[in-house]
Amino acid sequence: MNLSEEQNMMRQSCRDFVDDVVLPFIRKNWQLEWSMSPGERLPPSILQGAEKVGIRALGVPEEFGGIELDKAAEVSTFALIAEEIARGDSGLADKLVQNWKVSVLLRQFAPRHLQEKWFKRLIEDPQFLLAHCLTEPRGASDRWLPYNVPEAAMQTRAVKDGKEWVINGRKQFISNGYDAGLYVVYANTNPKVGMLQGTSSFLVPRDTKGLTVARCNETLGCRFMNNGELVFEDMRVPEDHLLVENDALGKAGIYFRPGKIIQAAKNLGVGVRCFEVASDYVQNYVQGGRILIKHQAVALRIADMATRIEAVRALLQRASRAVDDNAPDADTLCNMVKVFASEEILKVAQHCLELHGGNGVMLDFGVEKLFRDAAIFLHMDATVDISKMKIVKSMFPLTAGKYAGPE
Ligand SMILES: Cc1cc2nc3c(=O)[nH]c(=O)nc-3n(C[C@H](O)[C@H](O)[C@H](O)COP(=O)(O)OP(=O)(O)OC[C@H]3O[C@@H](n4cnc5c(N)ncnc54)[C@H](O)[C@@H]3O)c2cc1C
Repeated sequence: MNLSEEQNMMRQSCRDFVDDVVLPFIRKNWQLEWSMSPGERLPPSILQGAEKVGIRALGVPEEFGGIELDKAAEVSTFALIAEEIARGDSGLADKLVQNWKVSVLLRQFAPRHLQEKWFKRLIEDPQFLLAHCLTEPRGASDRWLPYNVPEAAMQTRAVKDGKEWVINGRKQFISNGYDAGLYVVYANTNPKVGMLQGTSSFLVPRDTKGLTVARCNETLGCRFMNNGELVFEDMRVPEDHLLVENDALGKAGIYFRPGKIIQAAKNLGVGVRCFEVASDYVQNYVQGGRILIKHQAVALRIADMATRIEAVRALLQRASRAVDDNAPDADTLCNMVKVFASEEILKVAQHCLELHGGNGVMLDFGVEKLFRDAAIFLHMDATVDISKMKIVKSMFPLTAGKYAGPE
């Protein structure tokens, strides 16, 4: 793919940040990933470093102090940067990309005075994070498909009371959920209709009365992202904090499509790192009197890794372009690349783990982390099976379009 000057520059500065700051930090402080005080896992200097290279507040309009990317290639550029950061640490990448994706929603749907207020906070404070809260304990697949019948509606409810909305419910598995300063929360506002007609989205500042950050989930991988669970008990937000009324899921396409691309891109970054460490290892580590790569079975695995990575990259470039161009097949392609990357890169990570023998599973060696990080992608932004159903649904809307309720 021919990169623009802006893309080349951003990619290089991200690569330098990862090589000079992120990777040395991760290697030296691998135990921090396992700290049971989530606030202490990632020191403030890491997000300050991201700030220095200008990637913390992408998506924030220039008039509010942000760095606006070329709109015609915004998603492709997000993808390039997400890949580079995830090459260093996919949890850190997740922390940052939530900011970009939620900023895209805010600039589209938040009233101007709230954009001014919250973008200013985001720009001023390098530790300020955003989060997007859709998933509930009853499951997320209903939302992704979606099952557009009242029985499957979101259980978090928002009811208008004078000039406020009163929200009750619970959200789980939320990236940045544990430490975000501002949340976008989805809630049911009409229980008589399907979720496509009766779901609204709201801005919820962290200090809102009635909001409790209930826990930080201890995840298998991406542990620096601090995934969290939130509880809302008679939580009141002013009426201007309503972002989209009733049609929030339909309008969130501007978040979901780049979201799938960015997931695949982060996933690719993990694969690229697997390839780097494995190729280094097999060209230096000796068994049977010769370096591993001279053993044919090892060489075949390296070829397999490289081929899978190239295939993911090719589909990612095609899908990113389709989303940037708002092409008719953008929905199909962004689901394809998200699911394809999750399966292919897990295989790449498995090769990497196996090629390192016993070292591969030692926590202090740093390779098992890549395998754990890769495994997480099977579940983020919809499971493998649900993503495949979405591909079929978008390819065959007339026959495979509906999953629930009367035809
Ligand atoms: C690390 C991580 C970060 C996340 N970040 C966020 C976030 O920031 N915001 C957010 O809102 N959510 C987030 N999620 C939630 C994520 O989107 C969901 O976990 C995912 O969509 C799967 O939903 P679920 O876990 O509720 O599984 P379920 O929906 O309960 O599914 C369980 C199993 O049943 C299968 N299944 C369900 N329905 C069907 C069906 N109709 N047909 C066939 N199979 C079916 C699924 O494929 C899966 O295998 C995150 C999850 C993880 C793991």
